[in-house]
Amino acid sequence: MKIGNCKSIKGKVTRGNLELAKGYVIPIMIAQGNKEGKIIFICSGMHGNEINGIETINRLIKKLDVKKLRGTIIFAPLLNPYGFKERIRYIPFDNKDLNRSFNRKGKKTFSNIIADKFMEEIVSKCDFGMDIHDGQYNVLLPHPRVPKNNREEFCFDLGKIFGTEIVMEREAKIGTLALESFRKYNIHVITIEVGGAMRLYEDYIEETIIGIKNILIYTDMMGGVIRIPLRQFFLDDRQGYISKIEGVLDLKVSLGENVKKGQLLATVYDPLNNITKEIKSKHPGFIFSVRMNDKVDKGDKILSIMHFEGKKDFIPLNAEIIDIENIKGISNIVLIPPRLLLNFFKFINPYKKIKELTKFLR
Ligand SMILES: [Zn+2]
Repeated sequence: MKIGNCKSIKGKVTRGNLELAKGYVIPIMIAQGNKEGKIIFICSGMHGNEINGIETINRLIKKLDVKKLRGTIIFAPLLNPYGFKERIRYIPFDNKDLNRSFNRKGKKTFSNIIADKFMEEIVSKCDFGMDIHDGQYNVLLPHPRVPKNNREEFCFDLGKIFGTEIVMEREAKIGTLALESFRKYNIHVITIEVGGAMRLYEDYIEETIIGIKNILIYTDMMGGVIRIPLRQFFLDDRQGYISKIEGVLDLKVSLGENVKKGQLLATVYDPLNNITKEIKSKHPGFIFSVRMNDKVDKGDKILSIMHFEGKKDFIPLNAEIIDIENIKGISNIVLIPPRLLLNFFKFINPYKKIKELTKFLR
């Protein structure tokens, strides 16, 4: 296989470049196993201010036993090297979002040309793909996003097998890689979100690597055991909390923390009008994403919460609980206790025995 000037060699990782438009060059790595198998791509850095995917790919390649790999992985760790240089989301030459530029009809912008070339040179040659993003100004617990628009079993299963407790199912926007790869080539792409705010998060990167390995095992590209929580939340939407004023944000909670109904989450202080607004939790739950940049505009999302409702048995709001047993034809799965869920139960009812609290897990 050859992508740009990067030629694959059996049992090795090779490196090279691919020119997507005149003068627009991205780095490529190809890991080709000794045995035949699926061909997939893993990309990141589509938004120049998102760095967690770049580091995830870097570490994954170091940990990968390529000789034992079945099939080929094409890595494109930095799709927007010029935005990365300037720490901006968009493609600096036309100020467009690359992840809204795939497969667009009509007059082509510079970003459309890059996007089309990437699909033609890489996506079209693959069985499926993974596109890693992060939360930009917000930090997110790692999770995969499955496009609702093409809810097919395989794509849905990839989301589950990734193995985080939270899987988000969302209507993918026009022009995104995940949606357009399916529309144009019938190729499934899941989006992976991890961390954000131009910082690396050790634990989350490790969790993401485990998730990718789960998918490689599931698709028979490598050996091993898949570790998945007993129960997973399929989130329809996050419960986002928006700032109603412009000002300075003082966050009172941190990522992954459990909160009670009515708990103070943050204050926003507007120095021009000397107003302070308090933001309180509408339901109990745990913090799923937080904003790290503390100057906020009116309408900015400050944090989001995975909410629960109820008195005895807490029912998740805006989420469906999925049993892992639903996945057919896989034997090498180890089911692990759902950590976020158990922590939430302990927090809400610290005096009850764990056995009692987890009744509804059985
Ligand atoms: Zn992104």
